[in-house]
Amino acid sequence: MAAITLSHVVKKYGDGFPAVNDVSLEIDDGEFVILVGPSGCGKSTLLRMVVGLEDISDGEISIDGDVVNDKAPRDRRLAMVFQNYALYPHLSVFENIAFPLRLEKGKYPEEEVRRRVEKAAETLELQEHLDRKPANLSGGQRQRVAMGRAIVREARAFLFDEPLSNLDAKLRGQMRTEIARMQRRLGTTTIYVTHDQTEAMTLGDRVAVLKKGVLQQVASPRALYEQPVNLFVAGFIGSPPMNFLPGEVDGDVLRLPLTQVPLTDELRARIGDRKLVIVGLRPEHLEDADTLDDETRAKGVTFEADVDVVEWLGAELYAYVPFETREDVAATLEELDRDLDGENMRTQLVAALGAESHARDGDTA
Ligand code: ATP
Repeated sequence: MAAITLSHVVKKYGDGFPAVNDVSLEIDDGEFVILVGPSGCGKSTLLRMVVGLEDISDGEISIDGDVVNDKAPRDRRLAMVFQNYALYPHLSVFENIAFPLRLEKGKYPEEEVRRRVEKAAETLELQEHLDRKPANLSGGQRQRVAMGRAIVREARAFLFDEPLSNLDAKLRGQMRTEIARMQRRLGTTTIYVTHDQTEAMTLGDRVAVLKKGVLQQVASPRALYEQPVNLFVAGFIGSPPMNFLPGEVDGDVLRLPLTQVPLTDELRARIGDRKLVIVGLRPEHLEDADTLDDETRAKGVTFEADVDVVEWLGAELYAYVPFETREDVAATLEELDRDLDGENMRTQLVAALGAESHARDGDTA
């Protein structure tokens, strides 16, 4: 196992915009870190630089204190687990796990190969399946065989590049749990690349959010959700995404598209002398007032809204409420919103309401 440190790491392909731009990140021994961000943000490039499949244009990568910039991939002793697990269909589970050892011809006597494969199989609960071919395994077992390969080499860290992206939703969920369970059991340092929200939020000890090659925030999933450092992280983490509403300071109140809220001292302190702000509101922080008792209702701000569409998901439902933003406000907002490239400019509010809500399409709720 190993600690991995990235220090001011840069990757430039040709003379274009850097794919990875001055990224510094310290990963502790045994830690599970997720790299997440939209397509093209540089996640895979970063992972490939750590494993040694891609040169580094600038900066330093070290493993347990040793700088590995110029080390060949095999000397870094890291194991990459790919999409589809890259298992050989004609080989048994035993031979699939033994494969990396056999590659280093003559280095491992047969007895040592057997010992290592059996130990890996025991850790992964695959002992019963060593003679089978991959086609006769469940998806979860295949995932474990792929991890077995990483274990036999006694790799210092596991690196996953979107390993579940080709699976259907149900299998994906199962595999996710499997990977989490195995990583906890083995305690191996892990870096995992994904653009999937759920994987990012559930798997890692910490999540690193990237945008256009630049690291935006590195934090625990909870801290990321509750204290995003900027609009990009706020809008990227969470599903359905955070609502962004224009807020206009007007005397003692902050005017919002559908309602207004009193300007408390705390709000004033945060707003300073700005006149226009973007207010972030998580969908689950809105509730159907009809389902609340008087006391709870009195604690919040109640407003009427025309519900446009309702999506029922069983345990909860999403209610969509369109709103209008004055043109001059929208223009100023777009400036404030540069962080999101304007993509998340909202014209509607999404409320995640409890299952007890009776909101219907066309309702005023
Ligand atoms: P995705 O989720 O779509 O896989 P990503 O976040 O993993 O994206 P990368 O594959 O790391 O992103 O790519 C980052 C940027 O570098 C992109 O703009 C991409 O086009 C560019 N890029 C990646 N590989 C090369 C290459 N071999 N040559 C030139 N540009 C590249």
